[in-house]
Amino acid sequence: MPDTATILLPIPAEGPYTYSVPDGMLLQPGDVVQVPLGPRQVIGAVWDASGGAAGKVDPKKLRPVTLKFDCPPLTEEMRRFVDWVAAWTLSPPGMVLKMVLRVPAALEPLACVPGIQWTGHEPDRATAARTRVLELARNGLSWTKSGLAHAAGSSASVIDGLIRQGVLEVVEMPAGPLVPAPDPTHNLATLEPEQRAAGEELTARTAQGSYSVTLLDGVTGSGKTEVYFEAVAEAVRQGRQVLILLPEIALTSSFLDRFEDRFGVKPGEWHSDISPKNREKLWRQVATGEVRVVAGARSALFLPFSRLGLIIVDEEHDTAYKQEDRVFYNARDMAVVRGHIAGCPVILSSATPSIESRVNADRGRYHYIRLAERYGEASLPDLHTIDMRKSPPPRGGFISPILRAAMAKSLEQGAQSLLFINRRGYAPLTLCRVCGHRFECPNCTTWLVEHRFRGQLQCHHCGHSEPVPEACPNCGTFDHLAACGPGVERLAEEVVGIFPEARTLILSSDLGGGIKRLRMELDAIAKGECDIVIGTQLVAKGHNFPMMTCVGVVDADIGLSNGDPRAAERTFQLLSQVTGRAGRSGGASAGYIQTYLPEHPVIRAIASGDREAFYDREIEARRAAGLPPFGRLAAIIVSAATRREAEEHARAMRRAAKPPSGIMVLGPAEAPIAVVRERHRFRLLVHAQLNVKLQDWLRQWLAECPKERGSIRVQTDVDPQSFV
Ligand code: ADP
Ligand code: ZN
Repeated sequence: MPDTATILLPIPAEGPYTYSVPDGMLLQPGDVVQVPLGPRQVIGAVWDASGGAAGKVDPKKLRPVTLKFDCPPLTEEMRRFVDWVAAWTLSPPGMVLKMVLRVPAALEPLACVPGIQWTGHEPDRATAARTRVLELARNGLSWTKSGLAHAAGSSASVIDGLIRQGVLEVVEMPAGPLVPAPDPTHNLATLEPEQRAAGEELTARTAQGSYSVTLLDGVTGSGKTEVYFEAVAEAVRQGRQVLILLPEIALTSSFLDRFEDRFGVKPGEWHSDISPKNREKLWRQVATGEVRVVAGARSALFLPFSRLGLIIVDEEHDTAYKQEDRVFYNARDMAVVRGHIAGCPVILSSATPSIESRVNADRGRYHYIRLAERYGEASLPDLHTIDMRKSPPPRGGFISPILRAAMAKSLEQGAQSLLFINRRGYAPLTLCRVCGHRFECPNCTTWLVEHRFRGQLQCHHCGHSEPVPEACPNCGTFDHLAACGPGVERLAEEVVGIFPEARTLILSSDLGGGIKRLRMELDAIAKGECDIVIGTQLVAKGHNFPMMTCVGVVDADIGLSNGDPRAAERTFQLLSQVTGRAGRSGGASAGYIQTYLPEHPVIRAIASGDREAFYDREIEARRAAGLPPFGRLAAIIVSAATRREAEEHARAMRRAAKPPSGIMVLGPAEAPIAVVRERHRFRLLVHAQLNVKLQDWLRQWLAECPKERGSIRVQTDVDPQSFV
């Protein structure tokens, strides 16, 4: 009887499939293979070589494995992680594996590069240049042509001449490592006492090399990066690999420079903006252990590390860690799981930790380190609330006289100001002043946002855009369209009107030029090449702007009333991070928070600098309502081509639900954004107490629900971060 193998495939099936193993092929769990699937060939991984379902199928009818790739097998740790994420998120395990095997080119050994080697022959005539080349090549090692020419101080034509004579030959040589190993002693930091104690604690935990989670909670500018670099150094000394997750790695090029300052080389980089070649090299060299430190976006969590010794999640509270399509997962939480399975320490770092992490620290599940002071001369900005009812902006404007005066002062001193408004474009809503017509997206239930620079009205949910018309499409009146509310572009117009001499820059993700342009602009701000920055939440992400002394939050109330259970937490985090951009290099600095709700507890907590009051209050509110982390939530999103289909399916699912005590099913309710990309959406919310097994029940319920038919799709989002 031929051998069989159980292969997990990157498809939405419930489990692995069984194949026969051709004579002469040896397979072990984790091996990456290619197998036939219908008319296609697909890449999968050996999940359990004992062949679970093999008994039921006549092995002669099984199709054989096509080939086994020459790459290191996925470790047992990695396979357990895949299964764990699948079970937690209620995703097919194959779809999680798909995130691991994203780089098929990396499964083949890296292509060799042409090298030059001495053949043992002597040249017919020795010139000075030829002698220098041969002195280097005589030891028999291979060189790249440009490397050899450069080292010998000769031209490539000298080498070509020696090849023609048969003195040198072209050989294949393995490609070099993508990045050399970091040197833990390259540039030691001199830490301040508070930092040193924190660094020593993290180093000791890393040296111990077992699972633990530490919440590194330090105010903006306290040196959290310097401190966790100590733990990175220790893991490197131990010969282990390190994963550093960053929410906006593509934008934080300064992080890579800081790493290089400390360790002499850049870390391996992983995000959507790196070239396919580097992606391939990185994947492969992470698997072989050659790449020691990776700084990456959330998907780096699925890289095949072979000797993981430390995981760091920087800005652990950031919403960018949540993936909300296909497999819905939170990379912060899954990083903790990966650390647990790998048996290595995890460090969560933030100036505004999530409520979940704070509660875990309070309960002693996580270690807790607090850095309360900024590094060096820097101190936190003085924060002021501006009551917009008492100091309103002039008609048609959004900047109150108080904020305006503060900006003028900072301009006079040659320092920078930052205005923050979390709205892209010119205005969030456009309407006709004659008939009241509002411009809506044809595919979604959303307003179109005017982008005046581009002359477009745009939907931020599906990307639909249309030119701004001259006349109202409803009543035909010309020139009577009104922009309602501010976006960054409109604010910039106001700033230029007030400070025509100032150098003003808008920082927003959709102004064209992509990541490159944003990186250049962030650099320009850091170097002081502009006076006033107007930005969306992009500016809040951990950047270091040494000359920023004045920060104004234009509308602090935007996020407070949107029905999201984390609204208060998000607003607190965003506003603390934004105002935290000020005063990072010493001297007086100030943050101004414009609000119509100065008495709101979140606004008061930020303005008074009493963050503990905010955490105490918010944790109590969550506890009282049984919300995470004192209870658990799962969202079910039903979408379909018509409203009726979506609603009926959602109702049928609700009827099929027989929740035990401790679980409540709420809804269905039409989603706040009821239509996205022409799909109608209804939501159900499952609320569970901590003592029930939420996933087990969800799995059972979903299996008993009517099947998805026609255009109907059901998505499950365990621990949802978004409720729209
Ligand atoms: P955080 O991540 O807590 O906001 P950073 O690690 O970015 O803080 O540090 C803020 C600034 O202070 C950075 O420019 C950093 O280089 C500097 N810094 C912090 N600690 C030290 C130290 N011990 N020695 C020298 N510079 C430091
Ligand atoms: Zn749309």
